[in-house]
Amino acid sequence: MNNVLEIERLSTHFHTEEGVVRAVDDVSLRVRPGEIVCIVGESGSGKSITAMSVMGLVEGPAGRVAGGRIGFDGEDLLKLSRSELRAIRGNEIAMIFQEPMTSLNPVLKIGEQLMEPLMTHRKMSKKAARKRAIELIGEVGISRAEQIADSYPHELSGGMLQRIMIAIAISCEPKLLIADEPTTALDVTIQAQILDMLRRFKEESGMSILLITHDLGVVAEMADYVVVMYAGKVVEEGEVVALFENPQHPYTQGLLKSKPIINQRQEELYSIPGQVPNPLELTPSCYFHDRCAHCMEICRTKQPVLKDVGNGQHVACWLYEKEAIAHG
Ligand code: SF4
Repeated sequence: MNNVLEIERLSTHFHTEEGVVRAVDDVSLRVRPGEIVCIVGESGSGKSITAMSVMGLVEGPAGRVAGGRIGFDGEDLLKLSRSELRAIRGNEIAMIFQEPMTSLNPVLKIGEQLMEPLMTHRKMSKKAARKRAIELIGEVGISRAEQIADSYPHELSGGMLQRIMIAIAISCEPKLLIADEPTTALDVTIQAQILDMLRRFKEESGMSILLITHDLGVVAEMADYVVVMYAGKVVEEGEVVALFENPQHPYTQGLLKSKPIINQRQEELYSIPGQVPNPLELTPSCYFHDRCAHCMEICRTKQPVLKDVGNGQHVACWLYEKEAIAHG
């Protein structure tokens, strides 16, 4: 079966006064039909910039995609014109963000914002789009749909706004939904409802989801496949069960160890020592070496690449390389 999304060797750079930040560095990943792929990592790992690059939202002059290919439906999105990309965005690929208020227009009523993609991409009449907009509000679990359609964003709660964002995103039945930390700003109960809803829509429509999160609870709940990013690079990837049961990369092991468990005391919580390296000071090395308890000489001077370590997992770490052992 063809992949819905195929990112190959993507690099996205930002040119700052201090130097070039390689926010996404040689990243490859794929999303299959009906699959939920989670990209997980701390802030600054490049996970959101990967998603923005797919959507064509990394704008110059500072930021630009410096190389690679983003295959979607047989086309390289990086080769499309702005208007061709606009025709796909919000239609075949939709995106929801952490903060719905930044995506919604504060001076347009909710109903109008739902009608817009239906009229643009689906060529619906105003009347048909209004009818469908009201149905969509109901489908995302909001009652009094007509009244909500005539409300402005500031009149709704954060949870309701995120439901509206989902309604807008699914309105044109996209093949791929990209969700960037969609529940981070919400309380736990609403978060669970939103995740349930996303899963239900995925089951009903067969769409694929690329979910960006720092939250391993969300990953465990949602993912079929997990991609772990650190300092702009993929350090480990694999099926969710294999990766949770048997994490191979010391960073993934640290992330899983730092996930709180029930009845754990605050002082028992583990946190990975050290900090993500300054993106302007990266040298050819494993970018995790300053924080890694297993660091070897080679880790400081040579960058490991992703290797198949069996069990469907791929890991970029010298621990799994014979050459590293030879260097001791
Ligand atoms: Fe640790 Fe070396 Fe593996 Fe990096 S390559 S994670 S420093 S053992």
